[in-house]
Amino acid sequence: MERPYAVGHEFTAEVVEVGDAVRTLKPGDRVTVPFQISCGTCSHCHSARSLDCTSVEPLSTYGLEPFGGGAIWGGAIADLVKVPFADAMAMKLPEGIDLVAAAALSDNIADGYRCIAPHALPGDEALVIGSASVGLYAVAFASALAVPCTYIDTNAARLKIAEQLGAKTVATTPDGRSFGEFALTVSANSTPGGLQSAIRSTTGGGICQAAGIHFRGAELPLLEMYKRGVRFTTGRANVRDDLPAIFDLIRQGRFRPKDIGASVFKIDDAPEALKGGLSYKSVIQML
Ligand SMILES: [Zn+2]
Repeated sequence: MERPYAVGHEFTAEVVEVGDAVRTLKPGDRVTVPFQISCGTCSHCHSARSLDCTSVEPLSTYGLEPFGGGAIWGGAIADLVKVPFADAMAMKLPEGIDLVAAAALSDNIADGYRCIAPHALPGDEALVIGSASVGLYAVAFASALAVPCTYIDTNAARLKIAEQLGAKTVATTPDGRSFGEFALTVSANSTPGGLQSAIRSTTGGGICQAAGIHFRGAELPLLEMYKRGVRFTTGRANVRDDLPAIFDLIRQGRFRPKDIGASVFKIDDAPEALKGGLSYKSVIQML
């Protein structure tokens, strides 16, 4: 993507000031703000499809300027962030939640949630092909809902976290082969092999979800999918609409953002940290 642009699209924050039209917030409130801009009043927002709000440019998002509806939204790695449609967009956090642990509510936590929670039926088992945090959040929601889960990855630290969350783990690179038959499969690692392995591991009539972004595309085994009636979805998380149910699981103590951990850096070190990607070597170090 063309640079430079303001970065940061997931955040929790404290309200410091509200506009005249804002009714539900006051200074001091602790909030999370979905990464996608949505108005709360258009037909899509009313139909629980706020991921494609019709009041703003498509893909309108904090911190992904060339891929996020233009320069007007800015980035969330900032001292102050302006939140439009604040009554709809800024959501008050459950009591006592750690702001750092909850930062990914804006996107990745909701991404993990939508891969598992809305679809899980009694007796279902899940397969999660992971990388970064989305796969681990999917495992955490499987655990929250008592869905037996198998987690595939090559990163030892992430495999350990998945195991601590109760998943059966397999340390291997998914290369398109099947890992068994699962009612719910999640491809979160953005590789063609990961995507094809998830699809081939989906049982007849099951659901395969691709949470990763495939910038270069990937071949889908459509005939195999047709024969088994695999339902396949991809796309961004529907954060604003899914957060109330996620808050309920947090209040019930069934989903704990701290279980996944996070890395904390001084703001002056952010450029170096971002260049290197966020390492899981020191995960959980600070929570
Ligand atoms: Zn809208």
